[in-house]
Amino acid sequence: MDLESSKTIKEYLHQANRVVITSHIRPDGDAVGAVLGLGTALQEAGKQVQVVLADGIPAVFRHFPGSKLVSRKVQGDYDLAVVLDCSDLQRSGGVLGDRKPEINIDHHVTNLEFGIVNLVEPEAAATCEILGEFLPRWGFTISQPAAALLLAGIVTDTIGFRTSNTRPHTLRCAADLMELGASLSEVYYHNLLRQSYEAAGLWGKGLTRLQRQDRLVYTSLSLEDKQQIGYNGNDDADLINLLSTIDDADIAIIFVELNGGIVKVSWRAQPGFDVSRIAVKFGGGGHLAAAGAQIPGTLEEVTRIVLETTAGMASEGLLNNEPDHE
Ligand code: AMP
Ligand code: MN
Ligand code: MN
Repeated sequence: MDLESSKTIKEYLHQANRVVITSHIRPDGDAVGAVLGLGTALQEAGKQVQVVLADGIPAVFRHFPGSKLVSRKVQGDYDLAVVLDCSDLQRSGGVLGDRKPEINIDHHVTNLEFGIVNLVEPEAAATCEILGEFLPRWGFTISQPAAALLLAGIVTDTIGFRTSNTRPHTLRCAADLMELGASLSEVYYHNLLRQSYEAAGLWGKGLTRLQRQDRLVYTSLSLEDKQQIGYNGNDDADLINLLSTIDDADIAIIFVELNGGIVKVSWRAQPGFDVSRIAVKFGGGGHLAAAGAQIPGTLEEVTRIVLETTAGMASEGLLNNEPDHE
């Protein structure tokens, strides 16, 4: 742990009056839980807070406490910028303009340390885990709503404590958040156990197209699929989590067509592999077991090049990773 960075962050947070907090585009539960969790804690400490996400808040997270705080653009002046759960500044979608953020807190192994002060802990299972540990140390109270937000981030990023980066510390942190009033069963219910009818329909589209090539399984979702099903999100409805349960594959990949000739690629790997290395090659990033990139091209083009590269790197052993280092 970086004690010097932690001390500087504490000073920045206490001295600031007007804070902007942001995270990555296409925000997931960890991004939304982190920005709203920190935002809530700072608001309760008397700060003026703007929580800004370039893509706004996806419908699936509108039940998060304080979700109405989220806007898409910064308004007016501010004296502190905090970026959470975001491995490179570009991925925040430009909400800060040219400004270098004072604080960067993240758990991606691919983080580019773009802040004036950086607290990057790749061993942490979620950015919300880092905040759950540090907020009390920095002298901020975690109220019940903030605890629920941070727990939601941890539970979604670990898919319910299932991912290989879940460590004893993650569970202790989750237990602390429960003691602060967060309900684990409610967080589970709302974030992992319920799906919309349209999301299930989209899974159907992807599953009928499922393919296998050696130790890879993959599928795709087109804009037309989403339109036919009436699915409004610009994500894969978490279908990748289902693909990653397939037993006789090491790596699962999903290709999701986005507007503007871009394909979002998600990789998931079994323990012993590091797919962040492929994602970085395509300008993306992530973790050993879960990584993503946005790649220009048609579904067919991107599928071909990504499969070729992934299979090539895998066969050369370039994706192997010592399980001890996970
Ligand atoms: P996803 O496949 O979008 O669920 O993302 C898996 C992991 O990779 C998450 O931790 C993401 O934050 C990260 N990730 C996804 N896309 C990108 C990207 N374009 N650049 C950097 N990191 C990414
Ligand atoms: Mn995230
Ligand atoms: Mn995360």
